[in-house]
Amino acid sequence: GVPIQIRQLSKTYGGFRALDAVDLEVRSGEFLTLLGPSGSGKSTLLMALAGFSRPTSGSIAFDGADITRLPPHKRNIGVVFQNYALFPHMNVGANVGYPLRLRRVGKAETAERVRRALDLVQLGAMAERPIDSLSGGQRQRVALARAIVFEPKILLMDEPLSALDKKLREHMQIEIRHLHGKLGVTTIYVTHDQREALTMSDRIAVIHQGRIAQIDRPRELYEAP
Ligand code: ADP
Ligand code: ADP
Repeated sequence: GVPIQIRQLSKTYGGFRALDAVDLEVRSGEFLTLLGPSGSGKSTLLMALAGFSRPTSGSIAFDGADITRLPPHKRNIGVVFQNYALFPHMNVGANVGYPLRLRRVGKAETAERVRRALDLVQLGAMAERPIDSLSGGQRQRVALARAIVFEPKILLMDEPLSALDKKLREHMQIEIRHLHGKLGVTTIYVTHDQREALTMSDRIAVIHQGRIAQIDRPRELYEAP
């Protein structure tokens, strides 16, 4: 994983400040959760990190190097976003291999890396399956495999489990946490679910109206008077 330094990051839409001078440091290999209500700026922050949206001002550095002007594919980050759907006309293996195709990785290496990524999310036997034959949880795992297949140093996840039922969600929380431990990838996870944040995180950054209101480990955060 790599450390992430965000300095005075702002994003305005018209006159509205979705992010208001955010300072945030994420440690190498850490699982940090952005917790906040709908509209608080969580997605805006992830989109800026991913390079899908340009901040109005401020800077973002990965491993000490400013990446604010780098295009998404040069940032070496994996993303699991709600609206980043799988390709329904491709099978599981082709979906997972897609980021490698974008990066012009050769066929044999792609096959090997796809196999390993699918093993990691426990879908080893499913490479040939069409997407529409999978359950919600299996699809979420395919999305996860696609995000880690090129061995990113940073993983961004925006409410990846919100479409799943409670039981599956709790199961996937454990799986994601387990995978994080295995990969040692610096992870920023977005949720509005306090319990989910408490279960999964090394630290939680509480975001409110485009600002980090509080940041601490789960225990300290909720034992505070
Ligand atoms: P969250 O992810 O915490 O729900 P967002 O980052 O999506 O919050 O949104 C933060 C604020 O910015 C919201 O008030 C939202 O309406 C506004 N916003 C987000 N995207 C746009 C956009 N493209 N144009 C205008 N306002 C936006
Ligand atoms: P490029 O500029 O090389 O086309 P993108 O900016 O489209 O790369 O992709 C950024 C990241 O998002 C990549 O890591 C890629 O794996 C992922 N990605 C790109 N397009 C999609 C997509 N349609 N569905 C899922 N993931 C995608």
